[in-house]
Amino acid sequence: MNYKDYYAILGVPKNAAEKDIKSAYRKLARKWHPDANPDNQKAAEEKFKDIQEAYEVLGDAEKRKKYDVLGSDWQRAAREAEQQRSYRQAQDADFGGFGTSGAAGASGFSDFFDMFFSGIGRQRPGGATGFSTAQQRGEDLESTIELTLHEAFEGGKKSITLQVEDACSRCHGTGTERNRICTQCHGTGRTRETKRFDVTIPRGVRDGQRIRLAGQGARGPGNGARGDLYLVVHLSGDQRFERKGDDLYLDLPVSIYDLILGGEVRVPTMNGDVTMTIPAGTQNNKMLRLSGKGMPKLKGAGAGDEYVRLIGQLPTELNDKEQKLFRELAGIRNGKK
Ligand SMILES: [Zn+2]
Repeated sequence: MNYKDYYAILGVPKNAAEKDIKSAYRKLARKWHPDANPDNQKAAEEKFKDIQEAYEVLGDAEKRKKYDVLGSDWQRAAREAEQQRSYRQAQDADFGGFGTSGAAGASGFSDFFDMFFSGIGRQRPGGATGFSTAQQRGEDLESTIELTLHEAFEGGKKSITLQVEDACSRCHGTGTERNRICTQCHGTGRTRETKRFDVTIPRGVRDGQRIRLAGQGARGPGNGARGDLYLVVHLSGDQRFERKGDDLYLDLPVSIYDLILGGEVRVPTMNGDVTMTIPAGTQNNKMLRLSGKGMPKLKGAGAGDEYVRLIGQLPTELNDKEQKLFRELAGIRNGKK
């Protein structure tokens, strides 16, 4: 990462007044606009971008103050911020992913800018009204939430812990305090902390669905409103049930005697076992339906169904008496034909 001498880029002294910085920027932007340099477009583009970046910082009172504070100490601050960043990345591996919609590097400016200035009082240079430090809504954040099928069935509250990046609590995102680089965020204005969220799980939530936590995203620049936090539901596979839409499917081992003679069996459902009647003469692999025993419907009332596939278990290691009786049965059946 290279230091950017924004004063040199705009050709103004370090104590230049606001209006001089603005007029220097306007003059240079006109001169180096790519449209005004058709013979020299590539170089002009680079120059134009530098000028914009310089004005983005020096034209904003808050960013300029921080830039001045950084001064010759910028390398140490960058090193410490970088260390903090890689430490956070290592922590992320333990905590489950988290991302923002506009991650670092999205400004189109230099790495130096992205590290120290991208989160502060954003404003587009060259606007008709000059610059403003208007409050802005913070970024939306996205993460995942792991749920069991049973949690999706029950719904309700679940408490989760996430690592979230936020404006530094010590310097309020400015990166400086009392004209020194903030010791908590090392000048980046951002810190990452472990936060607890109480999530309301909708009954019957599906895999991949997003749960929105309004106002739980990142704090906006200039102390603006927070963005939203989106949690993408990841349903872990269930050992017993397979889900298709709101319906559940279950393979149930049963004895062949229950299939042949009929009987009553216990069947697991999402809210406890129920008794199911098997009619006499039921074929192997027959699917029976338990109405309303599936997942709750997300929209509207009611629930899906549970389908129970009866898997007949053939007896093995027959004793002498059983063998004799099966032979007898086979004889009766064959004799009938
Ligand atoms: Zn700070």
